[in-house]
Amino acid sequence: MTKITGTTKLLGVIGHPVEHSLSPIMHNAAIAQLGLDYAYLPFPIAPENLQVALAGFVALGVTGFSVTIPHKQAIIPLLSEITPLAEAIGAVNTVTRQNHQWVGTNTDIVGFISPLQTTYHQDWGQKVAVILGNGGAARAVVAGCHQLGFAEIHVVGRNQQRLTQFRDSWEHSPLADNLQVHTWDKLAKLIPQANLLVNTTPIGMYPKVDDSPLSAAEMAGLPKGAIAYDLIYIPQPTQFLKQAITQGAIAIDGLEMLVQQGAAALKIWLQQENVPVDVMRQALRHHLGLN
Ligand code: NAP
Repeated sequence: MTKITGTTKLLGVIGHPVEHSLSPIMHNAAIAQLGLDYAYLPFPIAPENLQVALAGFVALGVTGFSVTIPHKQAIIPLLSEITPLAEAIGAVNTVTRQNHQWVGTNTDIVGFISPLQTTYHQDWGQKVAVILGNGGAARAVVAGCHQLGFAEIHVVGRNQQRLTQFRDSWEHSPLADNLQVHTWDKLAKLIPQANLLVNTTPIGMYPKVDDSPLSAAEMAGLPKGAIAYDLIYIPQPTQFLKQAITQGAIAIDGLEMLVQQGAAALKIWLQQENVPVDVMRQALRHHLGLN
């Protein structure tokens, strides 16, 4: 437990609702491990209070904070600066106070690519990524796949209008070069080409643990040795990953992305490379009843 003193500095997460956030668990575990005089708190902030909350954070001397739904886009005009990464995906999940200004970035990309880079030393240049879903998390996944250098990035969604908006939002970005969007009925053709298949939809999330975004027949097309990556972290494994494992695929669940995006944010706030990633992971696993 972090000891609160007269000099304790504040970090936190803003969202609406924010009660479900796992960030306080992992960040306070890291702070305790490092013996730092910080505390990380949940701040429930309704959309209409975002601007006044930011002014309050200045007055309180808040060091930095995480941003979750529904503020990831809405906060951008209120910041002095955002990094090119956050700009590319159009969303901020981490804000820090630098030189009396709020600076926003996005650590979801680093979180997403981290388990791919550390576990699988592949040359991604000839590879094909197929991404299910076209929501907020899919934007970080597309940017991550682009950063890894995938030859083709295919995004599959259920709504043509939202897919078109998704594609058009990258129009003036280099990310558009190898990005294609498709409706769900094209899956049977796309899955056999996939070296990386990512589920960014919430299908299969607790409590609907028997659901999968793909039928068994669709998953049967996945090449043996492909990587199946589910951004969902409860249950472990999801039905989607169970199907993929049966196909001989390599499975990655969403927990490591969660841990690594948090570790990347903590490095920014503390301005130090050394953060206890193992302690953060373990705190989450324990909290989620995974050990
Ligand atoms: P989101 O913005 O609401 O996007 C969800 C996407 O899934 C949308 O494209 C939506 O389609 C699609 N979808 C939802 N239900 C569907 C269905 N029944 N059939 C087909 N498509 C469906 O949510 P998000 O923020 O991207 O989050 C998505 C998932 O990723 C959640 O499970 C979240 O917990 C997880 N996530 C994990 C991490 C991590 O660190 N591991 C980070 C971020 C998110 P429409 O656009 O047509 O509605």
